[in-house]
This record gives sequence, structure tokens and C-alpha cells, in this order.
Amino acid sequence: MKVLVIEDSRTTLDAVCRQLDKLGIAALPAIDGAAGLESYEREKPDLVLLDIILPDIDGFQVAERIRAREHNGEWTPIIFLTARNTDEDLERGIAAGGDDYLAKPVSATVLGSKLRAMQRILQMRGSLVALTRKLDVANRELRRLSSIDGLTGIANRRQFDETFAREWRRSVRMKRPLALVMCDIDFFKQYNDMYGHQAGDECLCRVARSIEQSVRRPGDRVTRFGGEEFTVVLPETESAGAAAMAEKVRAGIEALAVPHGGSEASKVVTISAGCAAMMPQASNRASDLVHWADAALYEAKRQGRNRVVNYTLPESG
Ligand code: GH3
Ligand code: MG
Ligand code: MG
Ligand code: MG
Repeated sequence: MKVLVIEDSRTTLDAVCRQLDKLGIAALPAIDGAAGLESYEREKPDLVLLDIILPDIDGFQVAERIRAREHNGEWTPIIFLTARNTDEDLERGIAAGGDDYLAKPVSATVLGSKLRAMQRILQMRGSLVALTRKLDVANRELRRLSSIDGLTGIANRRQFDETFAREWRRSVRMKRPLALVMCDIDFFKQYNDMYGHQAGDECLCRVARSIEQSVRRPGDRVTRFGGEEFTVVLPETESAGAAAMAEKVRAGIEALAVPHGGSEASKVVTISAGCAAMMPQASNRASDLVHWADAALYEAKRQGRNRVVNYTLPESG
């Protein structure tokens, strides 16, 4: 433990430092307020013993300045050390940020006991801070896990909802286009029926990875929307670019060449994709874009699957 002692009387200063020394505590002596604050900054003491009447700035001000310099949850206990021990002084000292009071002349026994009590509070506080940090880390990990799909490891529906809402607001604000691609594996029920659920799961993972590989721009977000449906949010992307992206995704999955004996669309696993792009206006809803991408997907299914249908939405005001 390191204790800063700010005291302008040489005799008292020496006496207190000697007492601290006997308790096995390192004392940092300071002869006035300015020297004390300087030493506080430099040495980061564990505790401050602070005289009230000092030749430059008084102890109350020193306490206030120490408190003002503490950042993000730091706390250095301050014990006032003074001959002035009226109720008003005590009140002012505590108001200035002090934690306790010690009357001069300082008794070694009282000093030792008060320091031990403060040390106990410091330790308890230390464990609380450590616990809070651990909780913080755990919370962050929980938040991360809650936004990830357990099977494929890509973002899940919850993250889609967040990302999409955020991108939508940004597009409205910046008056920039936004596109959404909705993909759905063709005849996936038959795939499960034919190859089993386990194989179905593996297929979902391969499809997810393939979509992620097709999507390269850092702002683009791939999510597993649900079951065998995936979405790609494409900020700053107009209709033609979004359609090209969707086609790249579709072709990438076809190129995986995962055999699918139960598909009426192809001999391999394929997806259908619905694509919608718009220049969002304040009068539109984010759900409009989802609705149109979904409608385009439905149309792609209707037209025979393994294809992209693109809807360009007029600027609606
Ligand atoms: P369509 O071409 O019209 O999309 O036909 P489909 O068979 O793909 O569509 P449908 O919605 O009838 O079936 C989706 C299937 O996806 C049914 C369901 O068992 C399967 N599925 C959804 N989630 C999972 C999953 O996590 N793992 C596996 N193995 N299958 C899943
Ligand atoms: Mg003094
Ligand atoms: Mg589906
Ligand atoms: Mg399907």
C-alpha cells in the first residue's frame, strides 16, 4: 500500500510518515497542496492523508481536484488529517470528496485501524470491479452469441432485424439506395427426405458459406433468415447491382454441385432468389423492401426456381 501524506507541518508530516513506516506502509510526503497533487498524479497512491490548512490551496480544494482527476470508476480514499474538527469542517470535508476524518495529533492506533478499514473497503471494491469486468465480458459474449445462428455460424434473424433497420434509417438519412436479396433453397424438403436431416444440415452450412463467399463488400450482410432461407442486405446498391449480386449468389450455389435427386429444378442443390432495391423515403417502411423481395422470391419459385427475379421499386413519396 502507498499512502500520500499532504501536510505542511514538518513535525506532523515526519511523525505520520514514521507511523506509516512502522505499519509497513510506503509513505509519500508532500509539504503543500501543489506538491501533493503532483505526487498524486505521478505515484497513483492507494490512499491520501490530507491536511486542511495548507499554505497554498486548502485541503478541501485538493480533495475536489483529486476527485475531478479520477476517471472511469477510479477511487482513492481520502482521510482528512487536521486539528480543526468541528462538525462544519467534517461536513465540508465529506462534501469535498473526503471519506473520513482523523484528528491531530494522530494516534498510531487510530491511524492503523482507519487504514485497515479503508483497505478492506478498497479490497471489496476491487473484487466488485473485477466482477463487473467479468460480467461485461460475459455480456458481450452473450450478445454476440445471441446474434449468431447456431448451425451455420452466420448472423441470425435477430441480427438481420437490427442490421436491416439500421441500414434502412441510414439510407433514408443519406438518400442512398438499399437492396435486399432473399434466397430460398429449392425443394429442400425433398432433400431432407432423400438424404436425411443431418445431410440437410450440412447442406445448409455449405450454402451459407457459399453465399458469404459471393458477398464481398464489407457493408453487405448475409443472414440466415430462417429454415432454408437466407438474406443479403446490400447498402448503397441499386437495382442492377443487386440483381448481379443475387445472380452471383445463385450461380455460386449451383457451382457447389451438391447432388439433389429430389429436385425438379436441377440435378444439384439450387436456390431461388428475390431481389428488391429502392431509394428509401421517410414515407416508406423498411418492411416494404422485405415485402417486395419476398414477392420477387415467390415469383422466382413460380417461374420454375433456380433463378433470380428482380423488382426495381419506383421512388415513392
Ligand atoms: P421450395 O422449392 O418451394 O422452397 O420447396 P421447399 O421444399 O424448399 O420448401 P418447404 O418450405 O416446403 O420446405 C422447407 C424445408 O426446409 C422443410 C424443413 O424441414 C427444412 N428445414 C428448415 N430448417 C432446417 C434445418 O435447420 N435443417 C434441415 N435439415 N432442414 C431444415
Ligand atoms: Mg496545516
Ligand atoms: Mg422456405
Ligand atoms: Mg425452399
